[in-house]
Amino acid sequence: SPTSAIPPTDEIGDRAEAALARCGVDHLAEATAAGRLYARTPITGETLLSLAQATERDVDHAVTAAHDSFRTAWRDTPAPERGALVRRLGELLREHKYDLADLVSIEAGKIRSEAAGEVQEMIDVCDFALGLSRQLYGRTMASERPGHRLMETWHPLGVVGVITAFNFPVAVWAWNTAVALVCGDTVVWKPSEMTPLTALACDALLSRAAADTGAPTNVHQVLLGGPDVGEHLVDEPRVALISATGSVRMGRTVGPRVAARLGRCLLELGGNNAAVVTPSADPELAVRGTVFAAAGTAGQRCTSLRRLIVHEDVADAITERVVDAYTQLRVGDPLSDHTLVGPLIGQRAHTAMREALTQATADGGEVLVGGNRRLEDQAPDAYYVEPAVVRMPTQTAIVRQETFAPILYVMTYRSLDEAVELHNGVSQGLSSAVFTQDQREAERFLALSDCGIVNVNIGTSGAEIGGAFGGEKDTGGGRESGSDAWKSYMRRATNTVNYSEELPLAQGVRFV
Ligand code: NAD
Repeated sequence: SPTSAIPPTDEIGDRAEAALARCGVDHLAEATAAGRLYARTPITGETLLSLAQATERDVDHAVTAAHDSFRTAWRDTPAPERGALVRRLGELLREHKYDLADLVSIEAGKIRSEAAGEVQEMIDVCDFALGLSRQLYGRTMASERPGHRLMETWHPLGVVGVITAFNFPVAVWAWNTAVALVCGDTVVWKPSEMTPLTALACDALLSRAAADTGAPTNVHQVLLGGPDVGEHLVDEPRVALISATGSVRMGRTVGPRVAARLGRCLLELGGNNAAVVTPSADPELAVRGTVFAAAGTAGQRCTSLRRLIVHEDVADAITERVVDAYTQLRVGDPLSDHTLVGPLIGQRAHTAMREALTQATADGGEVLVGGNRRLEDQAPDAYYVEPAVVRMPTQTAIVRQETFAPILYVMTYRSLDEAVELHNGVSQGLSSAVFTQDQREAERFLALSDCGIVNVNIGTSGAEIGGAFGGEKDTGGGRESGSDAWKSYMRRATNTVNYSEELPLAQGVRFV
């Protein structure tokens, strides 16, 4: 693959500081010896800044502030008025779209277009949440008793603890926060320890939106740090909902901890997404859809395409075209407009990729393209790789695992039932796709894929905010963003109102 040159860390640091200043982050808390958190860039793999990590006391203070703000002000603010805060946030995000996008590229390594797309997603969800602030509808049901009304009403829940992953450092925060705020909740955010600067920028913009609209500034708190800071937040009984996005491993720790205190949990965990390409598929769509979903974001999306299940009659032709497209993917500096594949987040991701390729080969797989490290001479601490395509004889254990790197495993099938079997034969259940022009096949796949997202003639990644986002099985079962996902952020009350002068009991019970 061709490559683009890597800029020096100083230059990247200056760019990050300029973006932070424009977003209103003018003061970075000094790091103390006790808790230091390094802001790094995967572009060079080097450190940009050292920041102060939150302590257990900071977690307590943040939750106290958010809880007080919830009880004394925010839950009683009318929802459309709460919407005004989110509208202002959306305006500020439009104004600072490219500042935030720069920070996303610098900290998460996303190419410019995808980083800007991620900020656009934040803007879109602010628009959605603003509309939602006037549409938090409850139902009215027919009562079985005369002179009675039965209805449900939705009320603010409390403090929402938001834990986010490195690979969507701002969009996932916005999905949760914009919706939670219009629902009347306050938010304490524990961003990924890899992306603290983008988090500070978002927090500063939201503080400004609060000041501009007269909302209490304490509706939002940010806590920088790693899993230990996350765990303090998770264990905090005043946090009504923990919405956590990240690996299955994280979910297996967080889920039971929240359950132990009977708290509410919304989990958005890993995926191992597949696309089925049938003989009737439009090859152009199938190839383009595959390449973007599998190699985009250097394979570091929860919805990245990791398995391609192709009918044996078209497997060679489709694979050949995918391999050809892979040889033209430009790998390198994500801040350069020509780059299509930025760096992996770090060394661990690279090791995982190498080990997965070794295992796949040992299992009889053949690496058709990619897999090599690039630009090591220019940036020895950064991990740039060529996205890889591996033809597999069967769906072995390594294929069934999510390796958070650009590896696409190709397998073949004969009958659609067999394809569905392979497709559903993994523990994760996030996103899926079928490429076909046969309506029966499309409908059958829509019905049988066990994922939370099932697409036709479009790849597995790149969801719009209007739908509910999330997945089944090990992916955690949570839903965020659009549709009726807001219901997770509110408390439902069922109300029976008697406007008669009698007191009839339900089910005809008599008590006289
Ligand atoms: P990660 O699990 O390492 O970390 C995610 C977040 O959880 C971080 O903020 C981390 O500090 C925190 N955390 C980790 N252990 C914790 C614990 N025990 N208690 C509390 N907090 C804890 O994940 P990552 O490497 O940042 O992100 C990649 C993973 O996230 C992939 O598996 C990807 O599929 C998944 N992901 C899922 C979605 C989704 O919506 N389903 C979206 C983005 C990423």
